[in-house]
Amino acid sequence: MSLVSIKQVKKSFGPLDVLKNVSFDVNKNEVVAIIGPSGSGKSTLLRSLIYLEEIDGGSILFGDVALVEDGKYAANIKNITNRMGMVFQQFNLFPHLNVKENLEIAPKMTNRMPVAEIGKKSEELLEKVGLTQWANSYPNQLSGGQKQRVAIARALMMNPEILLFDEPTSALDPELTGEVLKVMRDLAKEDMTMVVVTHEMGFAKEVADRVVFMDQGEIVEEGDPAEVLVNPKQERTKAFLKRTL
Ligand code: ADP
Ligand code: MG
Repeated sequence: MSLVSIKQVKKSFGPLDVLKNVSFDVNKNEVVAIIGPSGSGKSTLLRSLIYLEEIDGGSILFGDVALVEDGKYAANIKNITNRMGMVFQQFNLFPHLNVKENLEIAPKMTNRMPVAEIGKKSEELLEKVGLTQWANSYPNQLSGGQKQRVAIARALMMNPEILLFDEPTSALDPELTGEVLKVMRDLAKEDMTMVVVTHEMGFAKEVADRVVFMDQGEIVEEGDPAEVLVNPKQERTKAFLKRTL
């Protein structure tokens, strides 16, 4: 069953066509890895899903509602984007709030969860990402891997139906990527629906149900990770993988 359906999405920045008729679906409980060279439009695509970018044409459907249909946005955008969570390369934590407060700020501000539940949920999630002892620490006291685990726990606070990751380990020292990938792997095991932009080909091969290769604003090839990453059909995919591996 398709949870997110992207149809012929177009986006330009001035004269630059960043997304050219991009279409693909994400099924419920599926992990989709998006790979591709820098500048191919991967971040723009993810950001469009949660309305951090406005697209110029095409449709984005979420379940049975349209965030945008034929370029026309819904009136209740927030109701739709609230159903998704996003994790960024640079963590985007609030530096003046401690770890627990970082998790609790959004649900508190939006009144979308009973206050008593917010504290319980944040404790639960900090335990899940192994950061219970760091609840009262501030982001600048944490390693990059710990910061990213806070960001993941924060994204989970509102019970999102899908989690979007934009190069979640690209800002981390190599020895810290493992702890973040482990949390993501655990989420995949729990059947969380995820779209992960990543350069971690090992992770894509092992965890993703499907790999999408983007280049120059287009989806060039998609399919089973074992196929796309090991036996790519398109020349552009072959060339990219040769440079990456
Ligand atoms: P990727 O994530 O695959 O590296 P991006 O989606 O970040 O690619 O960027 C795609 C292209 O769009 C790049 O050429 C980038 O420079 C350009 N771009 C992204 N955001 C903006 C912006 N806000 N204004 C102008 N150009 C942008
Ligand atoms: Mg990017």
